[in-house]
Amino acid sequence: MSDDRLFGDLYSYESLLADDERAELAAIRQFLQTEVRPRVAEHWAAATFPMELIPRFAEAGLVGRSYDTEGSPRASRLFTGFISLEASRVDPSIATFLGVHNGLAMGSLVILGSEEQRRRWLPGMLALEKIGCFALTEPHGGSDVALGLETTARRDGDEWVLDGAKRWIGNGTFADLVFVFAKDVDDEQVKTFVVEKGTPGFTATTMEGKYALRTVQNADLTFTGCRIPAGNKLEGGNTFGDVNRVLKLTRGGVAWNAVGCQMGAFEAAVGYAKERVQFGRPIAGFQLIQDLVARMAGNVTASLGMAVRVAQLQEEGVFDDHQAALAKAFVTSRARETVAWARELFGGNGILLENDVIRFFNDAEALYSYEGTREINHLIVGRALTGESAFV
Ligand SMILES: Cc1cc2nc3c(=O)[nH]c(=O)nc-3n(C[C@H](O)[C@H](O)[C@H](O)COP(=O)(O)OP(=O)(O)OC[C@H]3O[C@@H](n4cnc5c(N)ncnc54)[C@H](O)[C@@H]3O)c2cc1C
Repeated sequence: MSDDRLFGDLYSYESLLADDERAELAAIRQFLQTEVRPRVAEHWAAATFPMELIPRFAEAGLVGRSYDTEGSPRASRLFTGFISLEASRVDPSIATFLGVHNGLAMGSLVILGSEEQRRRWLPGMLALEKIGCFALTEPHGGSDVALGLETTARRDGDEWVLDGAKRWIGNGTFADLVFVFAKDVDDEQVKTFVVEKGTPGFTATTMEGKYALRTVQNADLTFTGCRIPAGNKLEGGNTFGDVNRVLKLTRGGVAWNAVGCQMGAFEAAVGYAKERVQFGRPIAGFQLIQDLVARMAGNVTASLGMAVRVAQLQEEGVFDDHQAALAKAFVTSRARETVAWARELFGGNGILLENDVIRFFNDAEALYSYEGTREINHLIVGRALTGESAFV
């Protein structure tokens, strides 16, 4: 597929961007397609992260665009959404790295940090000199963390002491700033802390054997009598409701990633259909193949439309938890279908890494489950629509 247009944008949603945004998006697309794309399959296979690209991500304008920073107002939600889409269209792992750093970690700092805390950590994060991770999920599970968080925080003079374990933490092996959520033993509230790499009592170990988003470095973290200065508790991170303020922002971002993931698979499949010859003609000319193409196009278009509307509601400041949850669950579900149809269209070649589609196929599984499974997000939607909470 040609790199200079968004093949899967059948209803021209990109035209909703301002002219200068479209021009910048084209430059970002070019960077991702030429500099990043050639390396992604190799890193996915080896389960390694392209550390050498990290400074390039900042230079290319991929970092911190959702926030007002000194001398630089935030970009529109639509524009940052399209950046996520473009990154995921190339590699959902890279999009996830950016989502964790930009959205979950930097979002925690910007939304929950004090002026002084932002001054302390934001410049390094914006330059990607300090990488962030977001440590919420625990070994016992991720769905019930609002009630069941086991990691504890105890205030001791001018310090907090953290004890517990976290699992699945993206960027966790190399992050400089770990945004960690722990229950204060005094008031039982979930508070937000920043643990800096190298703090005694903190360890990070790579999770092995992961067959989706293989390039993302997910880690098991432990905190054993881990002492941090009192000033490393984020000023506004005092309850689980505060965590939800961050998740509301990022779940919309996962929807954009899931659009990009299915768009990458869709484009690969249509390209392959035009080239692959069976019964003496390109398989693109068979009705049943065109049915798959149309089904994928429908999913991609509906998903992109939903993501665009999410961005518009966020821009208007009238975006609710259940709207974020619905978009996350719906678009990741469509992504799962789309990548399966794309894989099917490739026949046996669909399971070869060189054809990309198996990477999108596997990665869609992780997008579907992280930042709240479909079940948990549907329970958020169901509670909002019926007034009944059905979590337990
Ligand atoms: C690749 C990847 C990256 C991740 N990155 C991060 C990260 O950076 N930081 C972080 O904190 N976490 C991260 N996570 C964790 C992720 O958020 C959790 O995997 C997710 O929240 C689900 O938790 P779980 O895997 O423990 O599943 P569980 O909570 O054990 O759930 C198992 C199943 O039970 C279902 N279930 C649970 N409760 C209910 C209920 N009440 N009703 C119906 N069904 C229910 C779930 O939907 C699911 O199908 C990541 C996960 C993955 C896979």
